[in-house]
Amino acid sequence: MEKLIVHGESCKSCKYCINACPKEALSVTTHINDKGYATVAVDQKKCVCCGICYNVCPDYVFEIQKGEV
Ligand code: SF4
Ligand code: SF4
Repeated sequence: MEKLIVHGESCKSCKYCINACPKEALSVTTHINDKGYATVAVDQKKCVCCGICYNVCPDYVFEIQKGEV
């Protein structure tokens, strides 16, 4: 199983990913990172690991982790 990892410390709260996600799996949280931006979190139950957020994020917040074979 693939899993989406969110490196929230790099997020700048631009919300590109939230608008792009076809599953509405992403949302802004109340957690503020060291840069002063509210970070994004993923609802793993909704995420299908399509990789769209990975492609649109300008700050390399997302990582798609390949599962163990
Ligand atoms: S991988 Fe796809 S489904 Fe999962 S959060 Fe990103 S855009 Fe949404
Ligand atoms: S696109 Fe990247 S930087 Fe912008 S809100 Fe989403 S995770 Fe944060």
